[in-house]
Amino acid sequence: MIAGAGDCRASSYGSHSRFNPVPNMPEEPIKDYEAKLARIVQELDNQKQALRLLGLRPCSRCGKYFQMHEGKNLLDADQLVCYRCVPDWWRQRSPALNTKQRQTIEAKIRRWLVTYYKAKLIQQAEKLPPDDEIEFKIVVSCEQCNGTGESAGGGKCHSCDGRGTVWVVQLRPELQ
Ligand SMILES: [Zn+2]
Ligand SMILES: [Zn+2]
Repeated sequence: MIAGAGDCRASSYGSHSRFNPVPNMPEEPIKDYEAKLARIVQELDNQKQALRLLGLRPCSRCGKYFQMHEGKNLLDADQLVCYRCVPDWWRQRSPALNTKQRQTIEAKIRRWLVTYYKAKLIQQAEKLPPDDEIEFKIVVSCEQCNGTGESAGGGKCHSCDGRGTVWVVQLRPELQ
């Protein structure tokens, strides 16, 4: 019986099944699908492993692969995130973090965007460019006052005007 089932797959049923892959396929037992699926999963795992060996890693949000050794491709901040995904990723990620975790990652985002993508650090609200010139902006803690808004002497922090936050602003590409 086992040999018979094997014959079926190898003959006309096998080619027929390519045109009617799912479901209602009484001639192809569930077990065969499971075996195929397991093979595909295994193949994917092998390929992911190979990409990793080549120094490629996926963005945790969009799943696209990037060369990891070039620091500009992926922000490494607990999770790996590509440039395009950073604003949305951070909007979703930041509320789940405590203040210390958030400030640590904000510092990384700021360094990464300023170093590799010409983002600007804006400390005063009146210096913010108009909205139509901005690709995106991310609010981060002021490093001078550690987000407190207070200067060491007790008055308000001069870097952030006492807000405790500053902006990392990315201008639209044609304005960079
Ligand atoms: Zn991405
Ligand atoms: Zn400050």
